Amino acid sequence: MNRSAVWHPFTQHATEPVPPVIARTEGAYVETTDGKRILDAISSWWVITHGHRHPKIVEAIRNATETLDQVIFAGLTHEPAEKLASALVEMAPSGLDWVFFSDSGSTSVEVALKMALGFHRNNGSPRSRLVVMEHSYHGDTIGTMSVGERGVFNAAYDPLLFEVDTIPFPAAGREQETLDRFEALTRDGKAAGVIVEPLVLGAGGMLIYPARVLTELKRIAEKSGTLFIADEVMTGWGRTGTMFACEQAGITPDILCTSKGLTGGSVPLAATLATDAIFRAHFSTDRAKTFFHSSSYTANPIACAAALANVGIWRDESVTERVAALSKMQAEKIARFNGDARFENVRTAGTIAAVDLRVGKAGYLAEVGPKMRAFFLERGLLVRPLGNVVYLLPPYCVTAAELDRLYDAVDEAAELAKSG
Ligand SMILES: *Cc1c(COP(=O)(O)O)cnc(C)c1O
Repeated sequence: MNRSAVWHPFTQHATEPVPPVIARTEGAYVETTDGKRILDAISSWWVITHGHRHPKIVEAIRNATETLDQVIFAGLTHEPAEKLASALVEMAPSGLDWVFFSDSGSTSVEVALKMALGFHRNNGSPRSRLVVMEHSYHGDTIGTMSVGERGVFNAAYDPLLFEVDTIPFPAAGREQETLDRFEALTRDGKAAGVIVEPLVLGAGGMLIYPARVLTELKRIAEKSGTLFIADEVMTGWGRTGTMFACEQAGITPDILCTSKGLTGGSVPLAATLATDAIFRAHFSTDRAKTFFHSSSYTANPIACAAALANVGIWRDESVTERVAALSKMQAEKIARFNGDARFENVRTAGTIAAVDLRVGKAGYLAEVGPKMRAFFLERGLLVRPLGNVVYLLPPYCVTAAELDRLYDAVDEAAELAKSG
C-alpha cells in the first residue's frame, strides 16, 4: 500500500504507531487483514450495543438498499423514518412526542441547543444562556465544544466558543453544592436550558453520579422554565442498565439526544426528541418560526431501517436480561480492584465499569495512555484509557470468560503503569 492519506481522529500521527487494518468485524471482535482477532472492549467508541454485525441489522440494511437510498427529507417522507419515529416516541420517557433526525451525536446536540433557543425566542421571551456540567463532553463541533469541558482538546478554538454557566460535577458527598449552584444560576429565569449527560459523564472520565441528582436538577429547572436537555448519546440503548438513563431518575427531559446505539452501532444516525411544547413553539403560520436546521443525510432510509431492526431486537430478543447479566458481571469482576493500592474509584453504571489508576509522577499521563493501548493491543484487546481512567464498555454479547481476560489484562497493565 502507498503511504496512507488518512488523517485519523484524535490521533497524534507523529508519535502513534501505524494502525492495524481491520478487514472484518463480528460479535465482540474486530479482525485484522492478517487474521488477528481483537476483543472490542470499548464497543468501537461506544457505538456497538448487541455486537458487531448483528444478523438482523445486516439483513435490514441489505433489504433497505433494494428499494431506497437517500431521499430529501424536507417535503418528502418515507416509511423507515415514520416507523422509527413512532417507535422512538414509544420507547423514550413519556412526553417526548417529536423526533428530529440527524446524523451524529454532535449534530443531535447542536439541534437540541437550537431548539432550546428557538423555543424561548418564538414564545416571545428570548433567552440564550446555557448551563452545563463540569467535565461534560457533548461533541467536537464549535457549539458542542462550547457546552463541554474546556481543556487541551479545544484550547486552540477557545476564541470561537461561546460563554456558558457551569455547575460543579456532583461528586460523592458534594451533590448539594451542584444543586445549590444550579438553583442560583437559574433563579433569574434567564437560562435557556441546561444540558447534562445523565448518570455518566463519558469522555470526561466515566464519572458517575446518582440518579436523584438528575431528578433534583429537573425539578429545579422546571421552576425557572429552564429547558432540560439530556444528552443520552452514550448512555442510551441500555448502556447504563435501562433503555435510557433518565428512566432511573424518573424524569422526562424536555429534549433528549440519542445516537451511538441507535442503529446498534452499524451506520450513522442520530435523533433529537422533543416535547410537544417545544414543537408547538415552532408551529406557526409565521414562517420565521420554522425550525431552521437540516443535514443532507437527515433520516437516511438505510440508517432508519438499521435502527428499526435494532428496535426489533430490543423487542424480540432478551436484550434487557442480557444487559442486566452483563451489568452484574461487570460489578462483580471489577470488585477485585477494591482495596488494591494501585487503583482508586472502582465504579460501575450498568454495563460500564471504570477504575482510576493511581499515577504518581507529574507529566506521566501523556505517556501512559498510548503505552497502555499498545500493551492491550499486543494481547488482542481493544482498550483505550482516558488519561489514567481504565474503563471497559463492551458490547452486550461479551462473555464472562472474555471479561476475565480483560480484567486480568487490566491487572497486568497496572503493573506496567507502576514501573512507568
Ligand atoms: C460521543 C458523544 C457525543 C458526540 O457524538 P458524535 O457522534 O461523535 O458526534 C455527544 N455526546 C456524548 C455524551 C457523547 O458520548
